[in-house]
Amino acid sequence: MYTLGIDIGSTTSKAVILKDGEEMLASSIVIATVGTDGVTQVIRNVLDESGIKEEEIGCTVATGYGRQTYEGADYQVSELSCHALGIHHVFPGARTVIDIGGQDAKVLSLNEQGRMVNFVMNDKCAAGTGRFLDVMANILKLDISELETEAAKAEKVASISSTCTVFAESEVISQLASGTAIPDLVAGICQSVAVRVASLAKRVGIRADVCMSGGVAKNGGVREAMARELGVEILHDENAQLMGALGAALYGWDKVKSVG
Ligand code: ADP
Repeated sequence: MYTLGIDIGSTTSKAVILKDGEEMLASSIVIATVGTDGVTQVIRNVLDESGIKEEEIGCTVATGYGRQTYEGADYQVSELSCHALGIHHVFPGARTVIDIGGQDAKVLSLNEQGRMVNFVMNDKCAAGTGRFLDVMANILKLDISELETEAAKAEKVASISSTCTVFAESEVISQLASGTAIPDLVAGICQSVAVRVASLAKRVGIRADVCMSGGVAKNGGVREAMARELGVEILHDENAQLMGALGAALYGWDKVKSVG
């Protein structure tokens, strides 16, 4: 039985097709905002990649910020529940999940069964989210995927003192003008995100295993800064950005299984 999980985020749409709640047959990430045709595109991508026809999908579950805008789903499930399901599937030992997406950051505390027992969220301010990194990468004329390699070359982490994205943007521009090396600036930018989200995480309480999900988890500069801030090892998976969509597909599998 095939299930389709769709995660409609603020910055990207993600989809996963699962076979029998285990095997990921296809996945796709499309940069798109809510209300665009990103959802149609991401579904088309996973159907094409897997060779499965739409009518063969046993259950479709939508999650994420824009889940209500998609009418083709059998269920609409909160992103917190889907993230917890996806993470528990990949990292059964995970007790703390740090999820940094395009416009928010969430920290979830999970129990042994993978159920969420507590969470905190920042969706009020761009600092400590992917948006902050996107803005800074743009100033430095770097692709978002280049931040990790630049941060790794840093000799001295630049200090970014402004917590506000707009002020931090001016600070980065003036440091750039005064000759601060780009790798040092990038490491400072990554550290700034890590410091913001680590303080959120400390409010929930850090219990190992700690893992990161969401698009920003792809950035090794932020992962390393987070590990330093929290003093713990940070687990992540190459599919970190797909955890919500994976959780949605797993939710669908649970539903079809229970119907029999
Ligand atoms: P949402 O679910 O809110 O749409 P995502 O979890 O997809 O957000 O994360 C989007 C963010 O991930 C982007 O704002 C960007 O900062 C970051 N990101 C995306 N791809 C990469 C990459 N290859 N390397 C580093 N960061 C990335």
